[in-house]
Amino acid sequence: MIAIATTREERIQALNFDYASVPKEAILPCNLCASDRWVVITHRDRYGYPARATTCADCGLTMLNPRMTPEAYGKFYEGVYRPLVSAYHGRLIDAKTIQAEQVPYARAFIEFAAPYITDSHRTLLDVGGSTGIVAREFMAEFGFSTTLIDPAPAETAEAAALGIESITGFVESWDSQGRKFDVVGLFQTIDHLMDLTLTLAKLREVISDHGIFLVDIVDFRAAMLRNRSVEEAIKIDHVYSLTEETAEALFARAGFAWVRKSYSADHLHVSYICVPTKPTIVTPESTWVANLLREIRQVQNTK
Ligand SMILES: [Zn+2]
Repeated sequence: MIAIATTREERIQALNFDYASVPKEAILPCNLCASDRWVVITHRDRYGYPARATTCADCGLTMLNPRMTPEAYGKFYEGVYRPLVSAYHGRLIDAKTIQAEQVPYARAFIEFAAPYITDSHRTLLDVGGSTGIVAREFMAEFGFSTTLIDPAPAETAEAAALGIESITGFVESWDSQGRKFDVVGLFQTIDHLMDLTLTLAKLREVISDHGIFLVDIVDFRAAMLRNRSVEEAIKIDHVYSLTEETAEALFARAGFAWVRKSYSADHLHVSYICVPTKPTIVTPESTWVANLLREIRQVQNTK
């Protein structure tokens, strides 16, 4: 019989991932408001790794700081990420199980977005589209011609096998050669990005004038309140921990106005339908930032 590690802590330790010694870099200045006034809010993450998260004192954007370098993240996603998430949840989560979970996820997003999709929407760009399951469901429903971009070659190969134009790489550095897309999707991806402002600016550049932008966040505040723990809401795979306020400020600054928002059935994610507009400098109000920090302090000290 095979011995199975029983506790979450044992399962994570068995992976032998030494986060402390992985190369890291500081984020400077704030990716939303360019401030350099921060509050350190955690010294470890939900997996128990020594991950420091900071909240911007001027806009409330929460981020890992320092975070792994892009090269270190590349290695992390190749070998550690899925075994780590499996160890955390105590069940196997791999490319296959993810695919099975992505079908109902895609169906729910399709139902949400359908009233905003018209006959003039012919092309879809799926950013961080993984193996193409979500894109495939959108294609089946709306007949889109689809392009998918993802940094993982093993995943884009699977997407290509589904007949999707698949690009291996990062959208920020992708040369779109003036192409425009009617529907741009950033599904279950924004929290993993290395540069929110740069990525959203790129998406604004490639969306057609009548296009729609579909995006969802894991709501950091919801994750914190649900677990009554700040650490449980921070994880090394999420560079940024967004809230409705910080996400909506980022959208506005990039030139996206949200027209519909949905608190998902899991009470954790928030999904948005956005349309392109003129960029506006929006910063969450200082009273909201102060309240967020007060709430963090309260959660830290409530037992
Ligand atoms: Zn800021």
